Amino acid sequence: MSQPATPFARTFSHGVLVLGLLFQFAHQTDVSRAAADESTAPAVRILVGFDGSCPHDPAGVKQEGPDRFRIFPSWRSSPGIDEEAVGRSTRLGFKVVNAGQAAASVDLWIDWQYHDAPPKDRPSFASVDEFMSYRDFVVMRLPKSERWRTVMADVTDSVAHVRLEAPPGETEIHWHPPYNYTQSERFVDSLREHPLVKVEKIGESPEKRNLWLLRITDASPRPKKNFLIRSRVHPYESASSYAMEGMVRWLLSDDAYAAAALREYEFYVIPMANPDGVHNGLGALTAPRGADVCFILYKPDAVNLPLKQAIDRARPDVAIDLHNWQNKHTDGLLGLYPVIRERFVRYMPDQLEFGKQWTIRDPKPLSPEAPEKELLRTYCERNFEAVTVTFEFPWFGRTTDDMQATGQKALWSLLRSLDPPPDKLR
Ligand SMILES: [Zn+2]
Repeated sequence: MSQPATPFARTFSHGVLVLGLLFQFAHQTDVSRAAADESTAPAVRILVGFDGSCPHDPAGVKQEGPDRFRIFPSWRSSPGIDEEAVGRSTRLGFKVVNAGQAAASVDLWIDWQYHDAPPKDRPSFASVDEFMSYRDFVVMRLPKSERWRTVMADVTDSVAHVRLEAPPGETEIHWHPPYNYTQSERFVDSLREHPLVKVEKIGESPEKRNLWLLRITDASPRPKKNFLIRSRVHPYESASSYAMEGMVRWLLSDDAYAAAALREYEFYVIPMANPDGVHNGLGALTAPRGADVCFILYKPDAVNLPLKQAIDRARPDVAIDLHNWQNKHTDGLLGLYPVIRERFVRYMPDQLEFGKQWTIRDPKPLSPEAPEKELLRTYCERNFEAVTVTFEFPWFGRTTDDMQATGQKALWSLLRSLDPPPDKLR
């Protein structure tokens, strides 16, 4: 199947717009008029276009009946590449708006379009079944609720079918619990007055969103080592944002080990490296054909420059790169020197309570010559002889509180495994 038929989708989007204007007018003028409009209006619609929605335009939603909608998570404003290509999306997020007085049954057909991926962007999965084994659920937040509930879908080929009794109000549905640009800005704002935090603006994204660096340490004048934490290079990986928040909140907590860490290290935290991709509902890149900022370019372009400058200024002795892969059952512990990694997993064993076991990949020797671009961990090892690790913490089976606690535990465990330093770090 190709992209949704544009005329139909346009008609639908205009319908929603007109309806919205009618409601607004009715609200401002006359209550009985509003009641009359509601009686003829369709009770349920799909809302997209908000911060972090995917698809990000009504053209990515097709109404197939009064209460039946087909959602296309790989709809993009222009043809995308890699994970932004048709059939390769790693993002989903929309709202079901029930303007009526009673709950309404809604049929949602989430069409991941696996077979429509262009040949050069073919999904790198053994089969459509494997591809959909990561996409056979959504998370849902009911009106006025704070919690995300996992709902299993019925999968046929690459379509996930969810039937929902939508209460009056807005029910939000995502693949994973979202963490959008607004949440990131709110988190940064919450730290501005903290005596142990310096909030620095390091630049702007191509669409003029803020790029921040949080510097966290105590007032001791002793020389300190530098500790870099980078989050959310990949927009769909909202777990990395929650894990980062858990780390920062713990560093600023009353815990004795947190106080000890702030005496020994200055922490440099990049809380959201790709705000455009996060806001615009992308999976991996800064734009449909944009950059993958997980790589550090030795000759950076304008997109990568502020991030590279911040990392070069931090000159990290230790660096954490936060990600979340799709895999339901394994956490990733990637690139940590084996002698430290062995200590680390004693402090943070498999999180069996969330159904997770570690997948461990030890670092490979650095290539003798620096390539044009490198992952954070090899870049920091080559240029600063840093101890580095990439974590992958997938969602399935974890709440947002669990994910914050997981981040906190990972940071605590890495600090514990470095202190006292093993005889041989490598
Ligand atoms: Zn990633």
